[in-house]
Formats: sequence, structure tokens, C-alpha cells
Amino acid sequence: MGKRGSSKLTRENKTIDLYCKRCRKSLHVAYELTGDMESPVLLNITMKCTCCTRVVTFKNYKERQIVERMKNDKYYI
Ligand SMILES: [Zn+2]
Repeated sequence: MGKRGSSKLTRENKTIDLYCKRCRKSLHVAYELTGDMESPVLLNITMKCTCCTRVVTFKNYKERQIVERMKNDKYYI
């Protein structure tokens, strides 16, 4: 087994799965926390829910808002 991949894994390295708030289905998008609470999240990214076709956009979201409102590594937007 050789060493591969990056060495930037930290304790804060955690992935949050994004879910649609309306139909509670997965958006099939995951956000990896940087550990920086002031870091902007998916700035200007628009996602469309494949289930209810709702369009969701992150507007001026900071990582802090994700961390405060996530539940069991899931975030309903
Ligand atoms: Zn939906």
C-alpha cells in the first residue's frame, strides 16, 4: 500500500450532505468543511432538486451557518 492523496486531512475535515428542505430528498451534493467558519459556502452555485425541481441557491452563506444548522451531517436548504 503506497501513500496517496493529499495530506490536508484535519480533524475538521467533514462532509455535509445537502438535502432539499421541501421534499427532504438528497440534492446529491456534498460540502466539505474547511474548518474556517468565515469561509463562503458554494458561492453563486445554483442547484436544482431532481425530485421536486425546486431551485436552491446559496446566498452569502458562511460555513458557520451550515455548522450551526446541520443535523447528523445533513443540511436541509
Ligand atoms: Zn426537492
